[in-house]
Amino acid sequence: MRTITETAVMQAQGLAWRKEGLRVGFVPTMGFLHAGHTSLMDLARQHCDVLVTSIFVNPTQFGPNEDLDKYPRDPEGDAAKCRAHGVDVVFMPSDFYPPGYVTSVRVAELTDRLCGVDRPEHFGGVTSVVARFFGVVQPTVAVFGEKDFQQLAVIRRMVRDLAIPVEILGGPLVREGDGIALSSRNVNLNAVDRQRALTLSGALRALKAEVQAGERDVAKLLAQAAERVDCDKLEYLELRDGDDLELLTELRSPARVFVAGRYGGTRLIDNLSVL
Ligand code: AMP
Repeated sequence: MRTITETAVMQAQGLAWRKEGLRVGFVPTMGFLHAGHTSLMDLARQHCDVLVTSIFVNPTQFGPNEDLDKYPRDPEGDAAKCRAHGVDVVFMPSDFYPPGYVTSVRVAELTDRLCGVDRPEHFGGVTSVVARFFGVVQPTVAVFGEKDFQQLAVIRRMVRDLAIPVEILGGPLVREGDGIALSSRNVNLNAVDRQRALTLSGALRALKAEVQAGERDVAKLLAQAAERVDCDKLEYLELRDGDDLELLTELRSPARVFVAGRYGGTRLIDNLSVL
């Protein structure tokens, strides 16, 4: 496994692979890797000849009062996990944005809801960094997790709208044994909040069970689920169409429930397919 820190070197390598006719796989991350990230590497491996993982805590996708400064980091542990999951190149850019960088990519509509409401700058930062990564790494296939379901939808839309020649694959959300969605941010929770945070996934599971038992009243389902969540601030709890992320007032397939809750300075998200 090789570590590349220079953007020009990464791009030269990506272009050389493509010229050789190799399928380049790409898993972008912000590091502090866990089993959710490595599951994406395992999935990517099945679709590529060479695999690149980036580790880059992208400042432009954090708002001014968000947790950029306390975002956890573990470069050595990350390298070991990448090696164990068949990564050929870890790209940890030290010079990612060129001086005078002023271009951004913004996907409208899909970003005005869910996380876009509380984090208005977030998705613009994500689409802009991912578009630049695609130009640098030259991937044939890129893998994103359903943990960030809205992000996956936004990236698919960007790739479609801008005709970027990369295949996007979604990997299933990976959870801890107790049900909490794996997230690099979970380490920032104290013991009490870690326990309270179980109510996020618990409420989603209970809502799904209600649907499976025949309940179809969206308002009732959401009210019951909100009762079950214990957090400092419930940012959203919504049932939406699993394809276009439109709000559902009547239950129909594909339906997905989305939640975001704050625990002190830590914001956690989760989602689950319900129908
Ligand atoms: P992050 O490092 O949080 O930016 O995440 C990098 C990629 O890993 C994104 O595509 C995430 O959706 C994905 N990811 C993060 N947590 C999980 C998880 N628990 N299950 C599946 N994918 C995940």
